[in-house]
Parts: sequence; C-alpha cells; structure tokens
Amino acid sequence: MLKELEYLINLQKIDNKLIEINQLKGDLPQIVNNLKKAISTLEKDLESNRDREKEIILETKRLEGQIEDNQEHLHRYQDQLYLVTSNKEYDALTSEIDTVRQNIDAAEYKILELSEELQTLKESIKSIELTLVDKRTDLKQREEQLEKTSKKTDDVHAKLMSQREKLVENIPLRYIREYDRIANAKGGLAIVPIHQVFEEHTDKRGNVEYHPAQVSCGGCHKIVPPQKIVEIRSGTSLIRCEFCGRLLYWDDKTSEIRADNEEELY
Ligand SMILES: [Zn+2]
Repeated sequence: MLKELEYLINLQKIDNKLIEINQLKGDLPQIVNNLKKAISTLEKDLESNRDREKEIILETKRLEGQIEDNQEHLHRYQDQLYLVTSNKEYDALTSEIDTVRQNIDAAEYKILELSEELQTLKESIKSIELTLVDKRTDLKQREEQLEKTSKKTDDVHAKLMSQREKLVENIPLRYIREYDRIANAKGGLAIVPIHQVFEEHTDKRGNVEYHPAQVSCGGCHKIVPPQKIVEIRSGTSLIRCEFCGRLLYWDDKTSEIRADNEEELY
C-alpha cells in the first residue's frame, strides 16, 4: 500500500478519536456559556429593580412628609376660618384650603401609584431571585460535569494531538492539504473504507459460497464503480468517491460485508 495512503488512514483514525472526544463534551461548553450570559443579564435586572425599589421608598417617605405638612396647614387654615372678619378674608382662606387639599390629594394619588409599582417590582425581584437560584444551581452542575469530562479527556486529547503532529510530519504537504480540504467540507471524514457486500449463494450440492456484489462508499454510501475496486484494494493510488469526493481505501476488518449483516451498515 502507498505509504501516504497508510499515513492518511492513520491520521483519519486519530481524528475520528478526537471527534469522539469532542462529542463526549457535547454541547456542554455552549450550555455553560449561555447560562453565564443569562445569569449576568438577570443580575443586572435585579440590581436595577432594587435601585428603583429604594427610589420608590424614598419618594413615598418624601410625599408622606409633604402630606403631613399640608395637613398642618389645613388645620391652621380651618382654625383661622372662625376668626375671619371679612368676606374677602374668608374667600382668600377657603382658596388656600382648596389648594392644600388638592396638594394632599395629588400626593396621596402619587403614593398609591408608587405602591402599585412597588408591588409589581417586589414580585419581579422575587421571580428573578428564584430564577437566579435555579440557573446558578444548573450552572454549577454543568460546570462540574464539564470539568469531569475534561479531566477524563484532556490527557487522551493531548496524547492524540502529539501523535497527530508526529504523523503529519511524515506526510507531504499536498496530501495534508487535500485531506484537510475534504475533512473540512465533509464533517471531519476525509478518507473512508469502502464497503463490499458479499451475497450468499448455495450451489446444487448445497455448498454455501459468498460472491462479491455491490460496493459502496463508506462515507456517502453511494455505489462505487466495480472497475475501481481492484485499484482501491491494491492501495497504490488515491481514489476518490465520485459523489462525495472522499478518499477511499480497503480495510481488511470492515470493508467486507456479508449480505445478511448488511443492515448493520446503515
Ligand atoms: Zn462517497
């Protein structure tokens, strides 16, 4: 077999293991990231809600003080009503009383509005706090899970990467480029074994024999023309799948498929 072909097959085996390792982590890194972002947004919301809560409490106190002052004025004016001596004085005083009453009403109305806002705010704060507890617990678990998986896989990953580096040094650059190009376009799978199905035949004497039948690409499962089989099996040149463009090779362990096991393929 062509040495470069053998190297590429080994490179693919290493890369397949690397892909497997990444799949072990699954979408955990993404989930952890998203959770961190969500928590940070919630924390900001919580802070601004709490700031507004403080503002409302201060504003309510100020308004209550204002009402108290106005009520004192009101009492004073009402007492003065008994002492007036002219209509003009009476009118002036009742006009003052009206103004003070209006002020009290306005302040009371504003306090009511603020207390409604405060109520909604408190509910929102409570709900954010509960969501935060959930998200933080979730994050902690996911991070632990990720750490566990990473601990298990980091060593293997490092070993595979160093094997890969050494292997790549032996492969001419144009082969590596070709491999990378196909791997990038085809989900990491650049070189695949072909699958040759052998059908069962029973002759007149009852002897069972297996005859080579359909050959397909191990990547896209489309048919490989029979005239290419000899060349692929000899491994003396790089043969591509006409459909997916992946490089093809014969693998003694997996290429031969008995017809009755065929469904295991797909
Ligand atoms: Zn193919």
